Amino acid sequence: LFDLTIILGKNGVPVAENFRLEQSTIADTIQAGQVRVRTLYLSVDPYMRCRMNEDTGSDYLLPWQLAEVADGGGIGVVEESKHDNLAKGDFVTSFNWPWQTVAILDGSLLQKLIPQLVNGRLSYFLGAAGITGLTALLGVREKGHVAAGANQTMVVSGAAGACGSLAGQIGRLEGCSRVVGIAGTDEKCSILVQEMGFDAAINYKKGNVAEQLREFCPDGVDVYFDNVGGDISDTVISQMNRNSHIILCGQISQYNKDVPYPPPLPPDTEKIQKERNITRERFLVLNYMDKQEASIVQLCQWIQEGKLKVRETVVEGLANIGAAFQSMMNGGNIGKQIVSVSK
Ligand code: NAP
Repeated sequence: LFDLTIILGKNGVPVAENFRLEQSTIADTIQAGQVRVRTLYLSVDPYMRCRMNEDTGSDYLLPWQLAEVADGGGIGVVEESKHDNLAKGDFVTSFNWPWQTVAILDGSLLQKLIPQLVNGRLSYFLGAAGITGLTALLGVREKGHVAAGANQTMVVSGAAGACGSLAGQIGRLEGCSRVVGIAGTDEKCSILVQEMGFDAAINYKKGNVAEQLREFCPDGVDVYFDNVGGDISDTVISQMNRNSHIILCGQISQYNKDVPYPPPLPPDTEKIQKERNITRERFLVLNYMDKQEASIVQLCQWIQEGKLKVRETVVEGLANIGAAFQSMMNGGNIGKQIVSVSK
């Protein structure tokens, strides 16, 4: 069991020591409708930072409780079933998987997975073929106004992360003629260009972001997939074209601060946004779950065809999940951060 021991306070930086690993026992028998599962993979995600505050700042996120087992996206295998639609050996997933090696769960709250859809890479269902992929695809489709042949330039911040790396590739697949990423290391930037088909990538921790953006986006920015907010976004927005669009996916640079979501833009940036008629509507993937099935089919097809390149950073062992979360929040991941709990 992994439970939460320390509440962060509104402006705290999360660390591995916020979590505690405990040995515990589960019931010997399961009830009708339940399954016993062994956990294979767990996901750590930026939104979990908000669950570490009593006031999560979001009506759809409940705070984790002190000394309770933490939970999030997870995948496991059914070891025993008393649920009509689930059998031993089935692979299943849930958004609220407890951070446990073994668990007894209500079978009706689990979704069955088909490993063949992702070439047997089950963990992809937590990333490219799961919520992350849906966020990238639906973000681009619902808020990006990308049109094939329109010669649009897309910029992605947090570009080498789980959502960002997919969003840039999807922007290209949907018709953008130029895709530029912003990420935190040279290694990330070279992977974006060499592996994922970005035209250029900017290391925001080195050099002048505004200058490089001007060089790589000579016709200005038409679509901005924003994962980070803060100074990076102010710089991008200052180079956006009239009637362009921000996909307001996330604002990770602000998550440790006591600000509302979405954080308001600084006055100068807001002025530019208004004067140039740049859209910046809130995007929440959970509002588009009616499009989930068709979108997952599309994502799996692209993965199988090799059109969507997927990267993961995998940490082994439940004992290391707190460290994996801390690392992801600090940029230690390339692609989706996964915790492998058992084989
Ligand atoms: P991720 O990008 O895989 O991991 C987080 C990344 O953020 C890190 O790798 C780090 O990369 C970057 N980062 C951390 N602090 C930063 C800072 N101060 N400034 C700039 N970059 C920083 O995580 P993800 O799961 O794909 O999530 C990305 C964003 O999407 C988050 O904002 C998340 O909240 C949002 N999201 C939104 C929805 C939705 O429905 N709207 C759904 C899922 C996720 P660097 O090395 O580049 O700094």
